[in-house]
Amino acid sequence: MDTAGTTDAEYHGTPAGTTGTSADAPATATRGRPAPALALDIGGTKFAAAVVESDGTITARTEEPLTGPGSAPMALRTVIARVLDRVPGGLPCGVGIGSAGPLDPIAGTVSPVNIPDWRDHPLRDEVAAMFPGRPVRLAGDGQCMALGEWWRAPDRDRVRSLLGVVVSTGVGGGLALDGRAHAGSSGNAGHIGHTVVDPAGEPCPCGATGCVETVASGPSMVRRARAAGWSGADARELAAAARAGDPRALAAFDGAGRALALALLNTVAVLDPDRVVIGGGVAAAGGVLMDPLYRWLDELAGLPFLRGLRPLPTALGRDAGLYGAAALIHRDRPAASLTAPDA
Ligand SMILES: [Zn+2]
Repeated sequence: MDTAGTTDAEYHGTPAGTTGTSADAPATATRGRPAPALALDIGGTKFAAAVVESDGTITARTEEPLTGPGSAPMALRTVIARVLDRVPGGLPCGVGIGSAGPLDPIAGTVSPVNIPDWRDHPLRDEVAAMFPGRPVRLAGDGQCMALGEWWRAPDRDRVRSLLGVVVSTGVGGGLALDGRAHAGSSGNAGHIGHTVVDPAGEPCPCGATGCVETVASGPSMVRRARAAGWSGADARELAAAARAGDPRALAAFDGAGRALALALLNTVAVLDPDRVVIGGGVAAAGGVLMDPLYRWLDELAGLPFLRGLRPLPTALGRDAGLYGAAALIHRDRPAASLTAPDA
């Protein structure tokens, strides 16, 4: 289900398009209608940007792949320029940024693992300089995914806490709590991919051993299947091989399902969230991942409130992070220390 294009006029108290402004809207560009937010999704392999209205409608969207070292600055300028003509006056009411981590939302800097020329890169201030007087807010991509899934959930009034997990080239996550992206003390809350599920396992680039990501990310599954003799290229081919019954591919997905089940059970035991949503490119493979995940959840769950845990597939697909980045502006009210200087 894609909720793009639906409205939630109750949020601003006035139907979209009618006269009236909202205290929640930091700026108005046209009479009676809050200006849209600019949403940025800074991934390790591509950047995406969208113009998102206060009712959650995406009116423009674009993305640009990173082509190698040094390509990030141009990709950033390109995606922003492509969508800005959909913003009245070229001035959004604010800019929300979801970025691959690690990041420091206090300093406003990002150090995405897959963008080596960005280390402690002052992304928030760089973007703020393009939009003087507008709030610019930064959060982790997994945090934005969770916030986006919460914001666009049709029943969000009944959901106080939502754990989001992204299974892709890495494994990430975040928690939306009471309508906010939960940043945590350092801003990095939600790194479920770097919880340890096998202390005797493989070393992880993060420095620990046996993290979920060493088993359940797309590249990790491919690596494990290849070690068992499979010869395909990527996670997409691996999913196809699993559907065709290849035992090496099935074993890789089974291992991923077990690692994710362990991490989810541990996390849910601590947080007891109202909802768990799983997304990302690998999760999009569907049953080949979700079936072993559910099987392992049933096998490993102990306490009654953990039994029957069923993460829901994402309702927003690859755009969940963009919705969440927009929600940093339209919905979230982070601590002032996390925010670039507002007007
Ligand atoms: Zn790790």
